[in-house]
Amino acid sequence: MYDTIKDRICDVCRRMWQQGWVAANDGNVSVKLEDGTFLVTPTGVSKSFITPEMIIRLDRDGQTVLEAEGGFRPSSEMKMHIRCYEVREDVGAVVHAHPPTATGFAVADIPLDDYSMIECVLSIGSVPVAPYATPSTWEVPDSIEPFLPEHDALLLQNHGALTVGKDLITAYYRMETLEQFAKITLTARLLGGAKELSRDRIDTLMDLRKNYYHVPGAHPGYKKYS
Ligand SMILES: [Zn+2]
Repeated sequence: MYDTIKDRICDVCRRMWQQGWVAANDGNVSVKLEDGTFLVTPTGVSKSFITPEMIIRLDRDGQTVLEAEGGFRPSSEMKMHIRCYEVREDVGAVVHAHPPTATGFAVADIPLDDYSMIECVLSIGSVPVAPYATPSTWEVPDSIEPFLPEHDALLLQNHGALTVGKDLITAYYRMETLEQFAKITLTARLLGGAKELSRDRIDTLMDLRKNYYHVPGAHPGYKKYS
């Protein structure tokens, strides 16, 4: 069942590994199905080796395993994924990875909140750093929850990055945009700093995001500016 979605999850996992966003068994991907259950990646498997039969199906509570072949278990980081779905009705997929440049900002505790690149304002808005949390504990979902209502992309302090979307490809593209923006921001800072867009231009882009990209809410994902 759900073969097409399982294939897409495996495709995203391989793309993440190919781009160097995950080493060894890092990272995880989940998708919410129409019946409210979830397909999630297993723990302890490199994203380069994942095949559709390894994908696990979890019940609506995000904890009870409905389908799992060969003794595969869901990642302990699923607590973080499930919190995204609980807080955001509109979220249909969650991607977690350690893309090196974005994770560098997370490790340095530097948010990616310049309004300097058009594509980023449209796609992910500002990206805050969620405070440090001990892996696999409930500290992790608790640390991200305050940021979820207004942000589709987060940095996790001393850890990595998290993106959400209405579907898998949207969540995946946001991770791509986040890592690309991190690389460009790092380069711009080496060159003396990015020049931010004017307030007029940011307002125009926000209207575009709302009306053309159909992002719910007025200005989700944007830092307050004066
Ligand atoms: Zn991680």
